[in-house]
Amino acid sequence: MSELDQSDNTPTNFIRQIIDQDIEQGKHDGRVHTRFPPEPNGYLHIGHAKSIVLNFGIARDYEGLCNLRFDDTNPHKENMEFVESIQQDVRWLGYDWQERLFYASDYFQQLYDFAVELIKAGKAYVCDLDGEQMRAYRGTLKEPGQESPYRSRSVEENLDLFARMKAGDFADGERVLRAKIDMASPNMNMRDPTLYRIRHGVIHHQTGEAWCIYPMYDYTHPVSDALEGITHSLCTLEFEDHRPLYDWVLDNITIPSHPQQIEFSRLNLEYTVLSKRKLTQLVDEGFVEGWDDPRMPTIAGMKRRGYSAASIREFCRRIGITKSDGLVEIGMLETCIREDLDARAPRRMAVMHPLKLVIENYPDDQQEMLEAANHPKDESMGVRQIPFSREIIIDQADFREQANKKFKRLVTGGEVRLRNAYVIKCEEVVKNNQGDIVEIRCSYDPDTLGKNPEGRKVRGVIHWVSAKHGVKGEVRLYDRLFKQANADKVEEGGRFTDNLNPDSLRTLTECYFEPALVDAEVEQAYQFEREGYFILDSVEAGRQPMVFNRVITLRDSWAKIEKGGGK
Ligand code: ATP
Ligand code: MG
Repeated sequence: MSELDQSDNTPTNFIRQIIDQDIEQGKHDGRVHTRFPPEPNGYLHIGHAKSIVLNFGIARDYEGLCNLRFDDTNPHKENMEFVESIQQDVRWLGYDWQERLFYASDYFQQLYDFAVELIKAGKAYVCDLDGEQMRAYRGTLKEPGQESPYRSRSVEENLDLFARMKAGDFADGERVLRAKIDMASPNMNMRDPTLYRIRHGVIHHQTGEAWCIYPMYDYTHPVSDALEGITHSLCTLEFEDHRPLYDWVLDNITIPSHPQQIEFSRLNLEYTVLSKRKLTQLVDEGFVEGWDDPRMPTIAGMKRRGYSAASIREFCRRIGITKSDGLVEIGMLETCIREDLDARAPRRMAVMHPLKLVIENYPDDQQEMLEAANHPKDESMGVRQIPFSREIIIDQADFREQANKKFKRLVTGGEVRLRNAYVIKCEEVVKNNQGDIVEIRCSYDPDTLGKNPEGRKVRGVIHWVSAKHGVKGEVRLYDRLFKQANADKVEEGGRFTDNLNPDSLRTLTECYFEPALVDAEVEQAYQFEREGYFILDSVEAGRQPMVFNRVITLRDSWAKIEKGGGK
């Protein structure tokens, strides 16, 4: 699948059509230059991946450029851990910003100078209204706002007050710089929006304590885009109503370029939340282990869970880019990872709920190496050796004392094939004093290695691990983080965390892995036959016992529940 996201495979969309037209008409000198502008106040998630794939994908396909730019104007919520994780995640997804790593804070001086230009032109003023008064003056969607009493300040007074704001003469919230646009505008964003506010006592991760005034997003973004020569500034739909302000800023300062803002719908995904505020809450309140918890929809979490970058890119390709909002089925994402892993995950055997099985007619001092294909359809993946011996471990779920014909596994007196090995027959069941099954005693048919027995049909195949050779370890069965598709939907008075799935993690500590898994590496997911896809946990890697994470089940076990069939 790694080849699937090549340019000729990316379906067109309304943004690409706009760009095609722009190129044809020679707009932006025929250049294409995009940017991905994360705010370093959290880890990237699958929604950001949609934006990354869009921005970097367009740059690649149009032989243009894509910048990585941190939108770092809110220092109290930002930190270097986020700055670093974001770079790691973009790179891991397969994209390269080359030497074009920028910070909006790189432009603080220029942003200040442009603000002075606006003041001099009578297009910005220092306002002393406090937050509450500002809201009251702003009006509503139905009623126009009122002009601030400070709106008519002279240019000189504004220049002086703004310089003193910068110099630290005023407290937080005492004054702001506002654009002078139109308090009667039907677009609330145009009612003299704030351009700068005062923030003392925070140490910015890039600029330290150099500034105590910080520019607002709506002012910073167009200026940063223009300074970088961005041609198409792609953002999510909630910024549609901010576009007039984006354009107003660029039309009223002396700057040679005017990027074009285009909005698309953000990704919403079933069974998870993609708001950074909510994800932060899950981390801070201990509902998950951290930002890279394998249940999180973060890139770091998905990577640790075992999702490949290619499967995430493929998912983004399939959902496409539109202007209509909706909730994307989680099945779309799960299908992408299943298809990817089915094609490239080597097969292995592992037992989750061990049950001892003794093959009575197999000599105690004997063992042999059996050969098994690493992949049923891809011979190039080669073979491995699996040790076989008198005592093996099977899964408790693969044995029943009695069962009807639908049970295609081992029953008392019945026969079953051991995957990659012989046909065995259950001769006896051993129980402890409480009546629990502790051991199965079987016989094996030596003439059934790689061929069917004569004159009888064996209907089932089960997996197993040699007791003596198997490696004991832990498996973490991850499932969806939320129990309902619309994870955000809450009853009155409830919290979204009420919707968390209590079974999103089950830990099994008595598992047996076939010996070949000792060499497992964190980048390589495996199919544990009949169980699902698993990957070595990257955080626990190198420690004993080994810990494997379940990436995904072989089939969608939730489909049955949703149709009322039970899990
Ligand atoms: P939140 O609203 O949760 O705080 P954000 O949109 O503010 O997230 P940013 O770091 O500002 O997060 O996002 C960087 C870029 O990624 C922006 O261009 C934003 O539009 C885009 N983006 C964020 N979330 C999604 C999403 N769910 N789907 C598509 N694009 C997204
Ligand atoms: Mg944002």
